[in-house]
Amino acid sequence: MSQTFTMDDLRARLSERQHKMTPQRQIVLQIFLDHPGEHLSAEDVHDILRTEKAEIGLATVYRTLELLSDLGILQKMEFGDGCSRYEVNDTDPTRHHHHHLICTKCGKVEEFDEDLLETLEADIERKTGFRTLDHQVKFFGICKECQEKGNQ
Ligand SMILES: [Zn+2]
Ligand SMILES: [Zn+2]
Ligand SMILES: [Zn+2]
Repeated sequence: MSQTFTMDDLRARLSERQHKMTPQRQIVLQIFLDHPGEHLSAEDVHDILRTEKAEIGLATVYRTLELLSDLGILQKMEFGDGCSRYEVNDTDPTRHHHHHLICTKCGKVEEFDEDLLETLEADIERKTGFRTLDHQVKFFGICKECQEKGNQ
């Protein structure tokens, strides 16, 4: 999805939750602002930090990501490869979370922004009384690039 968050928004979200913006948190969050639409693992964040010559240990990266996801600033996701990935949480309560398309060949994660589940959500509510507030939908398959490679 197109991200419109700024560091000020994220700082405000931290202070709403009685947490301060520390230099380490700012550096980690900046990586997410610099990589919109990507789903980064702790190792990815750590690798990017290393190329930027920022010395933050992997354990600290893990702790920072966990804290930021506990606070709802980042959203933590599992895509079936055993490693947690994070993206900036879209907190707009009027919109449901975008879907993820996961390539089982190359591991790429694409986003699909349209909900398209409204009929299903209404059906669920009618049949069970359950009101869907959000969802995490993952589609596993083969991305376009991998299909094209496979056809060569
Ligand atoms: Zn929905
Ligand atoms: Zn692929
Ligand atoms: Zn996403």
